[in-house]
Amino acid sequence: MGFFADLHIHSRYSRSTSPALELPELARWAGIKGLTVVGSGDFTHPQWFASLKSSLYESAPGLFSVKKDHSRVYFILSSEISLIYKKNDRVRKVHLLVLAPSLAAVEKINASLGRRFNLRADGRPILGASVRDLSAEILALDDRVLIIPAHIWTPWFSLLGSRSGFDSLEECFEDVAPFIHAVETGLSADPPMLAQVSSLRRFTVLSNSDAHSAQNLGREANELDCPLRYDGIAQAIRGGEIVRTVEFFPEQGKYHHDGHRLCGISLPPAETRKLGGMCPVCGKPLTLGVLYRAEELADQKADLPVPFTYQVPLKQILSQLMASGENSKKVNGYYFSLIERLGPEFHILQGQPILEISRTDERLAAAIQAMRENRVRRVPGYDGVYGKIILDLLPTPKG
Ligand SMILES: [Zn+2]
Ligand SMILES: [Zn+2]
Repeated sequence: MGFFADLHIHSRYSRSTSPALELPELARWAGIKGLTVVGSGDFTHPQWFASLKSSLYESAPGLFSVKKDHSRVYFILSSEISLIYKKNDRVRKVHLLVLAPSLAAVEKINASLGRRFNLRADGRPILGASVRDLSAEILALDDRVLIIPAHIWTPWFSLLGSRSGFDSLEECFEDVAPFIHAVETGLSADPPMLAQVSSLRRFTVLSNSDAHSAQNLGREANELDCPLRYDGIAQAIRGGEIVRTVEFFPEQGKYHHDGHRLCGISLPPAETRKLGGMCPVCGKPLTLGVLYRAEELADQKADLPVPFTYQVPLKQILSQLMASGENSKKVNGYYFSLIERLGPEFHILQGQPILEISRTDERLAAAIQAMRENRVRRVPGYDGVYGKIILDLLPTPKG
């Protein structure tokens, strides 16, 4: 039996995050969700790194737990960095996820970056350096570090993004490309979209939440079946031995379709192309989403078996069933009573037999069955607006 890992999250030192994002709170929510491994987030931030050192102990080689916490939640040292620089006369903005094998490795990375850059300003620091040079610098400090291009298709800040990215990892990483082993899908993309691009074929596909609040932990995640230690996880990522990724329906992400938020325009790529990429309301260039970019770079049939499962967060399912807001008292109260009765959220959504769920709640069982069978209506997100997934509810057979 494998375990679930969410490798990319943020601390309270990143912009627009909750001040409640402290390590015990993250560990508590990881338990509620059913995640075994969670990224520490933001290890480049001096204050957050200080709290990582004081609040955690090494509970498995290269993995860390909150002191006196017996929940068996392990943190892996992770950080996201934002690189903004010019290459071939174009401004590039790329986010990278960095995983480190030890506190000592993080000390070295922070010391090296801290000499030239301000790491204090943001949990996700902005560094004026090229992806190639910075990756080479970090890998030279410790070759067990993993560098993973984050949410690789999003328009504004990603390696293959429409606004400020590249057309391939090789163009971006140059001679360092052979040392890059994995890419992250991001919320608006799924593995089949990646499988249509031949230059991505050799990379392991990962999915993470990029959560800015503890509640959003695990909204995307990875199932792994490997030794619970940094090297085990790193080896699984390098070798492509991921059991599966757990994905948002990509339409739910904020950048699936093209559009303009302020003009209220959301378009599929075919419509965008008919309009020459221009907004029919304001006449300016549309924000081209992830689907557009994926179609632009696609050069092969997605013929590889890519293991993944779609998932809708349990609170969103309850919100639909109870016709009440996702963060309402009603939904929250019922959410926690379900976790208490049935187990962690990932167990309910992914593992628990439908018959068992129906003994507690028949309508919920029907909704989860619809989710597992991909019977959903999809309203795609665009230009920073989240999409909507509506479960198609059929009556369940009585059990
Ligand atoms: Zn990012
Ligand atoms: Zn417009």
